[in-house]
Amino acid sequence: MTKKTTTLREHLDDFIADTLARCTRCGKCFEACPMTRYSDGLTNAEPQATVSGVLDWLRQTPGNAESVAWLKVCTQSSRCIDACPEGINAMKMVRVGQMSAMGSLDVPAEQTKLIGRDAKDFFRVINAFAGTQMTAEEIERWQR
Ligand code: SF4
Repeated sequence: MTKKTTTLREHLDDFIADTLARCTRCGKCFEACPMTRYSDGLTNAEPQATVSGVLDWLRQTPGNAESVAWLKVCTQSSRCIDACPEGINAMKMVRVGQMSAMGSLDVPAEQTKLIGRDAKDFFRVINAFAGTQMTAEEIERWQR
């Protein structure tokens, strides 16, 4: 049997579709995040509203200010992954949200200016990975 080759973009599109279908916007991933206390933009953030903003970025439309603040403060602690009752990789959800906010998906450049320069440099590296057209198995291995 021929092994199916999946581009990074196809992998991301599958992940986005699955996350949008299964996320209940309960906000438990946001509540588990140890970094939110370090962002002034998240002082009064509603977990459900913040996650909804991230899901907007996954839809490739600009999310709210709280979602941008969360995307910026993530340090990949991975606490959010265990917190999700739906088994969604919430850290990856945030990561893909960052990619969208950086314009790595199809979000117009004028809508991606909310994220700082350091993050943009990081996502240029992500784009380089996308250019290699890795298979899904290789992406999973890389993520580990
Ligand atoms: S914990 Fe899971 S289901 Fe709840 S908002 Fe986060 S990703 Fe969605």
